[in-house]
Amino acid sequence: MGPGPGNPYPEVALGFARPLLGHLDPEFLTVLDETNDRLRQVWRTSNALTFPVSGTGSAGMEISFVNVVRPGSTVVVGVNGVFGGRMCEVAARAGAEVVRVDFEWGQPVDPEQLADAHPSPDVIALVHAETSTGVRSDVAAVADRKGDALLIADCVTSLGGIPVAIDDWGVDIAYSGTQKCLGVPPGLAPFTINERALERLVPTPQSWYLDLNLIAGYVGGDSGRSYHHTAPISMIQGLHAGLGALLDEGLEASWERHQRVGDLLKKGLVERGFELFAAEGHRLPELTTAVVPPSIDEADVRRRLLTDYDIEVGGGLGPVAGKVWRIGTMGHTARVSNVNMFLAALDDLL
Ligand code: PLP
Repeated sequence: MGPGPGNPYPEVALGFARPLLGHLDPEFLTVLDETNDRLRQVWRTSNALTFPVSGTGSAGMEISFVNVVRPGSTVVVGVNGVFGGRMCEVAARAGAEVVRVDFEWGQPVDPEQLADAHPSPDVIALVHAETSTGVRSDVAAVADRKGDALLIADCVTSLGGIPVAIDDWGVDIAYSGTQKCLGVPPGLAPFTINERALERLVPTPQSWYLDLNLIAGYVGGDSGRSYHHTAPISMIQGLHAGLGALLDEGLEASWERHQRVGDLLKKGLVERGFELFAAEGHRLPELTTAVVPPSIDEADVRRRLLTDYDIEVGGGLGPVAGKVWRIGTMGHTARVSNVNMFLAALDDLL
């Protein structure tokens, strides 16, 4: 669903359009510090090292693993979709012995099963909101069972759209993306890491670019700033503005808006004969997955929704390709008018 009229986040565009500043310009560093403060509020954390990684959500995934995984580290990963699978690949490339715990697509990660997978893992990782299936897993319940392990949570599709509470839950490392419920164009990965995880940093990780020991000297800010890489100025100015808009709306209000819009969409789909794919009680408001009735040529209708109505619906991935639609109502697209437009277009086409 495109931005359309009435986009409540014009501030984001203004943020991007701000004049370029140097990456060590005090004015820009103030914007960066404020962005990090805003991220702390959105993450619900007091973690000092909280900042937007230069790169998309996958860069957030990489930075999370390469900085705490050593060759031979045991990493337990809960996999209930594409992005849990990607976590396994990233952990393996960092040298981990990966213990992959698979769950049926459409079901959440089971915290007990994950905890039982290994007696003393170094890291446990899972995706909070699986974008390939529309399922929410209970990160807090996994954190309760993490023991001495570090917990990495992928919050790419959850941050800003549903409750995330890094400190209360006991998550050690988390990353997100700007382009989902934060309603900002892609290009940065909001990231946060606590003291407990910082004590276990790999001294010289495989990646120079994503080495937290080096990056902290730029984003940390306490003892001056040293150049590591040039910050993506406009991206950060855009994120600064988008987070400002989100906090002005209020986190709870944003969660409530996503819920209300997601519920409306699910109701409309069920009324039209679609079956909801994600397990009840674990359905994401911001991403609705629906099994397309066999009477509908899913690829053709999806194509016509895009070409004739400007509405983009995601197709199924992996085992549910060609069977399931993934419909995002995230960030500023989470609006009743978008759902009504989508359902009207669907009625036209069917
Ligand atoms: N994790 C999840 C849950 C995602 O949905 C995505 C992207 O959609 C990613 C990670 C990777 O993010 P990106 O495509 O921004 O690199």
